[in-house]
Amino acid sequence: METDNVAKQIDFGSRKAGKTYGFDEDHDKSRPAQWWFQESDEGLILFVVFYTQACRWSRCLGCNLPSQVSRTHVDYTAIIAQVDFLMTDPGIAKRRERIRKVIVSNNGSVLDEDTFSSTALMYLIAQLNLNMPNLSVLAMESRPEYVDTAELEFISRALAEGDTPTHLEIAIGFEAFDNHIRNNVFDKGLSLESFEELLSKMAPYGFHLKSYFMQKPVPNMSDEDAVTDIRDAIDYLSRVGKQEGVRINMHLNPTYAAVGTVLETAFKQGKFTPPRLVDVIRAAQHAKGKDLSVFVGLSDEGLAIPGGSFLDTGGKHLLAPLEQFNRNQDFNILDGLG
Ligand code: SF4
Repeated sequence: METDNVAKQIDFGSRKAGKTYGFDEDHDKSRPAQWWFQESDEGLILFVVFYTQACRWSRCLGCNLPSQVSRTHVDYTAIIAQVDFLMTDPGIAKRRERIRKVIVSNNGSVLDEDTFSSTALMYLIAQLNLNMPNLSVLAMESRPEYVDTAELEFISRALAEGDTPTHLEIAIGFEAFDNHIRNNVFDKGLSLESFEELLSKMAPYGFHLKSYFMQKPVPNMSDEDAVTDIRDAIDYLSRVGKQEGVRINMHLNPTYAAVGTVLETAFKQGKFTPPRLVDVIRAAQHAKGKDLSVFVGLSDEGLAIPGGSFLDTGGKHLLAPLEQFNRNQDFNILDGLG
């Protein structure tokens, strides 16, 4: 295992993007970094961020997610202990029969076996089968380059042994639709060709896809251009999802100025303001009648600098209707709000 090489890649990516944050090296390795519940049209969701070695890409412009995990390797025994911790947590235990979806994250790529142990992943699936009898979807976050269909097929077979049929969903970060913004400014390293290749790899197995987008992900982007970018993404996802026969969900995150990234600097220099929720609604409304679902991310996970969150732009009265929209995908709720 190239543990040192992964740490070097993390350092390289962080330096390239001018990141100044540190990592959470004092974290208790037997506990996940974070976990929370979400309500969606798919039912109750448990979102878990496992504490592992950070994302080796680490260079995306506005992202400080690696700061919540470790720069150095976290071995499989620790990740297994985190699974045990979750399965015995009273808040999770009392909801275990209601949980319909689990999203597995490590703020990087769960399918990168150098950062997330394969043994621990198999152990997690066994525990989900044993403890969550009504699980309908297991989502795993990953960069596309780590998606290996043979591995997914195996996981899928293991999940089928649970009490309820469980679909696999791959969750990937897309962030911006405009090619120049996505790859030259944000430094995502994702081409449309590789995205479409991923869809055609997944289609025969019936796996679902979640794609994360950020509204207004870079400095010097107008609110109007940010809305247009998301609308273009909706049109694209709706078209390719239909073409490839893959069910797609867009997870739309309004951007915040994340601590220790160039967005923090840009915010302080007046070159970046977070998007307004009213514009997020205008963007999401474009998905009405299209072949995809939309979930609007409404938390900055406490990673924004003071005043630098979309929650600071006014429009807090829009949170409740957006939460309701997330739960039922009823676009009528958004009418007249955007
Ligand atoms: S956005 Fe994802 S791929 Fe990019 S640095 Fe953050 S965790 Fe890594």
